[in-house]
Amino acid sequence: MDLGITGRAALVTGADSGIGLATARHLLAEGARVVLTDLDAGRLADAAAGLGGEHTTIAADLTVPDDVGRLLEEARAAYGDPEILVHCAGITGPQGPFHELDDDAWRTTLDVNLFSAVRVVRGVVGAMREAGWGRIVLVASEDGVQPYVDELPYCASKAGVLSLTKGLSKAYGPDGVLVNAVSPAFVETPMTDAMMEARAQERGTDVDEAVESFLDEERPLMALKRRGRPDEVAAVAAFLCSERASFVNGSSYRVDSGSVATI
Ligand code: NAP
Repeated sequence: MDLGITGRAALVTGADSGIGLATARHLLAEGARVVLTDLDAGRLADAAAGLGGEHTTIAADLTVPDDVGRLLEEARAAYGDPEILVHCAGITGPQGPFHELDDDAWRTTLDVNLFSAVRVVRGVVGAMREAGWGRIVLVASEDGVQPYVDELPYCASKAGVLSLTKGLSKAYGPDGVLVNAVSPAFVETPMTDAMMEARAQERGTDVDEAVESFLDEERPLMALKRRGRPDEVAAVAAFLCSERASFVNGSSYRVDSGSVATI
């Protein structure tokens, strides 16, 4: 399927690994011109080295407003105003029982996962409205609708992302700017690698056993009984960025093999 986005200027955050890198790869394969951004310039350059197509990298910390301003300036200088934004930057943040998590745990998680989305969208949406065409995809999580008690800051941040998605879709859909979310579960990326390594260490097992026990005990509704691949999330994100998704607005696409219990 031709996604109809050849030549479109795209900005992908969280792009040096996992879902962000896979999404950048999909958009490039569709002919978009892609700015990849992430925290570390070196890791970003290494990740982008294997990519084809027209792309550039700009390192920025999305929790720092001046960095976001510089990122957008440099992105505009590279390919013009972003017409597509896929916001993948995120952290698991501090985990543990609610009563043991302090304000900093909440602040850090909300700042990266929710407020960075606010900052980046605010920076790109004006030009999209003026152009009468834009696509914004925010990466939420199954946790946004199905909270797990040991990671409530993360869950609340992702519920915020879903609410932001819906609100933005109402505000800017009339201008031709379509805003949607993808909500993955347990995808094989550095984020869940770190979780599984910690679990393996706690249990005195290896990572494969940690994954298996996590699926059995913590994600029993994931019917495919495996971790997702970044590519499987990226395919949905790329579709939502496309001309083919011209009547899709305000939705959250679950890419979770059935993990969320509700219909
Ligand atoms: P990932 O590979 O760790 O990607 C997240 C990226 O965000 C990392 O490259 C990270 O940089 C970057 N980042 C963190 N803080 C940042 C900041 N302040 N400014 C700019 N970039 C920052 O993990 P992933 O799984 O692909 O995650 C992508 C998105 O999917 C996240 O929003 C995550 O919550 C969501 N998600 C993932 C899963 C899953 O199972 N993997 C499930 C549901 C939702 P560093 O690596 O340098 O810290």
